[in-house]
Amino acid sequence: MHKDKLLFAIAATAIVLLALAGIAGKKPQVAMEEKMKPVPCLAPNMPLKQHLHAMLQIVINGVPATLPKDIGISASCEHALHTHDTTGTMHVEAQDARAYTLGDFFSVWGRPLVTANFVSMTVNGRATTGDPAKLVLEDKQQIIVSYKAPEGKKK
Ligand SMILES: [Zn+2]
Repeated sequence: MHKDKLLFAIAATAIVLLALAGIAGKKPQVAMEEKMKPVPCLAPNMPLKQHLHAMLQIVINGVPATLPKDIGISASCEHALHTHDTTGTMHVEAQDARAYTLGDFFSVWGRPLVTANFVSMTVNGRATTGDPAKLVLEDKQQIIVSYKAPEGKKK
């Protein structure tokens, strides 16, 4: 009897420890993967599964801003989402078939898409509703994102 109780106590402790390890180790990882899959760097000598171009125009207080060139491109990494020039063309050149979003592009850029100064977004001339970050990029899409000037930058 005594031995059984001891075994039971050991087993119960093991189950509790495994459960705790599961909570501590697994959950945050899964949650992060679902929240934001990082946009991959292009691997050399691997064919592209998709190659499309969408246009992004950022407007601040009614004035078009220039989208920088080489967003997503550094010496060590050419991201699947990038720009090559200042025309506003976003390149989606990916070796996977995943749907890439405007939010993915802004995360590669390292800027927030929706800020306190966000006013509106149109896609192909139509006002959008819902989360701008979830807009899936498509070929020849014309995206215009409008902002107010940031506080303190009005002169
Ligand atoms: Zn391209």
